[in-house]
Amino acid sequence: MNWDDTTEPTAAERLVGSVADGEDQAVEAALRPRDLDEFIGQEKVREQLDLVLRAARARGATADHVLLSGAPGLGKTTLSMIIAAEMEAPIRITSGPAIQHAGDLAAILSSLQEGEVLFLDEIHRMSRPAEEMLYMAMEDFRVDVIVGKGPGATAIPLELPPFTLVGATTRAGLLPPPLRDRFGFTAHMEFYEPTELERVIHRSANLLDVGIEADGAAEIAGRSRGTPRIANRLLRRVRDYAQVKADGRITREIAEAALAVYEVDARGLDRLDRAVLEALLKLFGGGPVGLSTLAVAVGEERETVEEVAEPFLVREGLLARTPRGRVATPAAWTHLGIVPPGARAAGSGQGDLFGA
Ligand code: ADP
Repeated sequence: MNWDDTTEPTAAERLVGSVADGEDQAVEAALRPRDLDEFIGQEKVREQLDLVLRAARARGATADHVLLSGAPGLGKTTLSMIIAAEMEAPIRITSGPAIQHAGDLAAILSSLQEGEVLFLDEIHRMSRPAEEMLYMAMEDFRVDVIVGKGPGATAIPLELPPFTLVGATTRAGLLPPPLRDRFGFTAHMEFYEPTELERVIHRSANLLDVGIEADGAAEIAGRSRGTPRIANRLLRRVRDYAQVKADGRITREIAEAALAVYEVDARGLDRLDRAVLEALLKLFGGGPVGLSTLAVAVGEERETVEEVAEPFLVREGLLARTPRGRVATPAAWTHLGIVPPGARAAGSGQGDLFGA
């Protein structure tokens, strides 16, 4: 396998962040499922991909190009490696932001071996000229390399060996339709159910040689935001705690105590998420309040609140983005254990609404 330099620095290094940090990258290699049978959850994607790969193998052909969409940490890189392994092909890993010039892409494409899998993470962030070169490469296994500049420039066609492009993106909707249409197989990866994350955690604990009880795995799974990468990371932190403070075995009590130290609460909210919600509830009575005002109140950048904290709060049904501003939902008051102002007056409509 060949790693080109790829990933951008993460938006914020946080325990419940879904983008891989340095430690994740080092440990994840050991925890990655190696074949489709080991890959947990995502039943539909697995079943469909299994068919695509089996058919290609039976024909002795290179597999069709595959587009994987879904949030970071759900297993897109892992699946691309599994595709390569199942096809017994080498894999090259790179990402959209690493390919700024068409020439960067031409260099990668022209060095591929026959049947090689090219994993292109964050494919929606490639430059336009590179994207256009990719169209032709995907369809005809050919690129035009431009030699020279200005009126004297000439395009030299270059044949490529057949290869399988595995593109990954957070949202397929971000891709221009001509690019999207060139993938033979498109799969959307969903967030994982807690029971699936429990299986991920048991599997990883086994590989890391850590004893864990079912309750302990369930406790970690419930705080992992539907994301295997976060589940594996929380598992490692809980393991540290269990080694230092107990006999190394992870029980529910140990998991709870460890994640309290790391400020990851029962629903997987961390300090930043809670600060945003608390400000919204305590300072602004639950909203609506503008994003900038909310950001100032928690002492963070607007982008941090919007891109780092809010998506999960919205997904969890704790916060709503409305045209008039951010609004807390009844579940937010309940989760933080704060009584909404109107609810204190007995018999008021709001009191009923929030079950107070
Ligand atoms: P992405 O490329 O979507 O950001 P990765 O493929 O790097 O995500 O997965 C992150 C980590 O989560 C990997 O270490 C992998 O071990 C684990 N993981 C992801 N999906 C699964 C799965 N379905 N079963 C087991 N482990 C998984």
